[in-house]
Amino acid sequence: MTRVPERGFATRQVHVGGDAAHATPRATPIHLTAGFTFDAFEDAAVHFGAGDGWGYTRTGNPTVDAVERKLASLEGGTDAILLASGQAAITVALLGLLDAGSHIVCSNHIYEGTRGLLVDNLSRLGIETTFVDDIADPSAWRAAIRPETRVLFGESIANARNDVLDIAAIAAVGDETGIPLVVDNTFATPYLVRPLEHGAAIVVHSASKFLAGQGAVLGGVIVDDGAFDAARAGALFPHLVARDRDGSAGLWERHGGRARVAHLRDGVAPRFGPTPSPLNAFLIGQGAETLSLRVERQSANALAVARWLSDRPEVLSVDHAGLPTHPTHHLAKRYLRGGYGSVFTLTLRGGLPAAKAFVEALQVVVHMTHLGDVRSLVLHPGTTSHAGRSAQERAAAGVHPGTLRLSIGIEDVDDLIADLAGALAAAATVDTDSLAVDVVA
Ligand SMILES: *Cc1c(COP(=O)(O)O)cnc(C)c1O
Repeated sequence: MTRVPERGFATRQVHVGGDAAHATPRATPIHLTAGFTFDAFEDAAVHFGAGDGWGYTRTGNPTVDAVERKLASLEGGTDAILLASGQAAITVALLGLLDAGSHIVCSNHIYEGTRGLLVDNLSRLGIETTFVDDIADPSAWRAAIRPETRVLFGESIANARNDVLDIAAIAAVGDETGIPLVVDNTFATPYLVRPLEHGAAIVVHSASKFLAGQGAVLGGVIVDDGAFDAARAGALFPHLVARDRDGSAGLWERHGGRARVAHLRDGVAPRFGPTPSPLNAFLIGQGAETLSLRVERQSANALAVARWLSDRPEVLSVDHAGLPTHPTHHLAKRYLRGGYGSVFTLTLRGGLPAAKAFVEALQVVVHMTHLGDVRSLVLHPGTTSHAGRSAQERAAAGVHPGTLRLSIGIEDVDDLIADLAGALAAAATVDTDSLAVDVVA
């Protein structure tokens, strides 16, 4: 904007210098703005009508768009939608597919926040969930499907037992009746596995974890395969194939295979409104530029740590899919490329007192509820994420009083092992009476 010195102080403080010089920055510019000015009078109507150009950040922002294109490409999808958190991504993805009366078939081995969404929130909208415990068995998924089932949901590498999902087998079960498989790929990241290549229809992530990578921001992403098939699945999702309220062409007619993601982008995400900050989007995009390097190093470090822990007498078990002893190691070898992931659990023989002493003795590994960070993190699930569940439910989920979740970072692995050795030594000194403690208080 040109200088307007003849105008008043208050006018000048608002209008002068509001525009940036046109330049071509190497980094993605941060369009930290609620909205965008329209050049011509007609541009506003064109934007509201056909969606062309930029209008308001809740419906589109160039910084967010740049990150969406990067993440869609990394997952091998046609479109991605960036949202304010992983929970927002899961919520928006599901609300785009489900109606009151719909039913979900879900892995029983999932993030506790997702479980809460299904059992406490979506249930109140008349959406029921059946949890499958034996997630390796496709017939267990098939048996849970009802006429109202609209979604199958699982995690590529599951919380907390580290089970690797047989994505192709479960996607094939859904495909028999046109039901999409939605995969939470947070733990694996697209560097290790791209679920859409194995038949999943939608991938969701907590971008707060590995994609951002440095624990600075929250974010979530939905990636769609762009292959919605009206002939096969139109009867399950009439809102995607019907004509619009005014009788004009509906989503399927206008967008074809992209009907599902077009609905999420235009009809779900902006209505519920969990829009990411463009600043957060920028940081997620910066993080994603180093995803392969981080995940490769984190996976190598984690496997070395898991192997070392599994040989220690204080350790009862290590649930890491890269170990040949893990029940889904064969699936890890089939699906994961370039590493086995870096979030896993170990269970100490000494139960809760040993776990407490272990956490308190750690000096490099940070005690917090997060994962996928460049720094190594530890959490005691039994008293935190899984505290709301019964002791039996926790045990079935692989969460025992002595269980600790580790998220391994990019540090020098010798420093991590030395830190864990010190913590195991501290855990070994706790009162042996504690060995009798088998229930989390
Ligand atoms: C953290 C996490 C979520 C939730 O993501 P937020 O960004 O914290 O909202 C969902 N799924 C998995 C597997 C997670 O680890």
